[in-house]
Amino acid sequence: MEANNTIFGKILRGEIPSKKIYEDTEVLAFHDIHPVADVHFLIIPKKFIPTLVDVTPEDAALLGKMLALAPVLALQQGLADGFRTSINTGRMGRQDVYHLHIHVFGNRPEGVPLSTMAGV
Ligand code: AMP
Repeated sequence: MEANNTIFGKILRGEIPSKKIYEDTEVLAFHDIHPVADVHFLIIPKKFIPTLVDVTPEDAALLGKMLALAPVLALQQGLADGFRTSINTGRMGRQDVYHLHIHVFGNRPEGVPLSTMAGV
């Protein structure tokens, strides 16, 4: 396994801080440093998987767990009326950090619906 020198690897190793909202043995979730909505957080696996392209069949349960966590954490963060999720993959997918992550973002129910032009 190659070394995880991404910013998220540094977060996982505690080398740089993050605003954590959830952690267990396999998964970490924390607020995005540049939110595009009232609430914007990232769910990452602790296992180093650079992109969605690198996922193998043995990662299926881990990815399912990450996806199932999205609505639970979104609700905890106040997104009671819906939210968006996205996974950017590779250069053409505008991925900046090469450690797999699910973006979860949305505005609170009293706010405005997200524009389809949201930058994530
Ligand atoms: P992507 O373009 O899908 O790779 O998204 C990477 C995301 O990571 C962007 O939304 C960044 O704002 C976010 N990000 C970068 N550095 C940090 C950090 N130190 N803490 C939290 N989020 C970060």
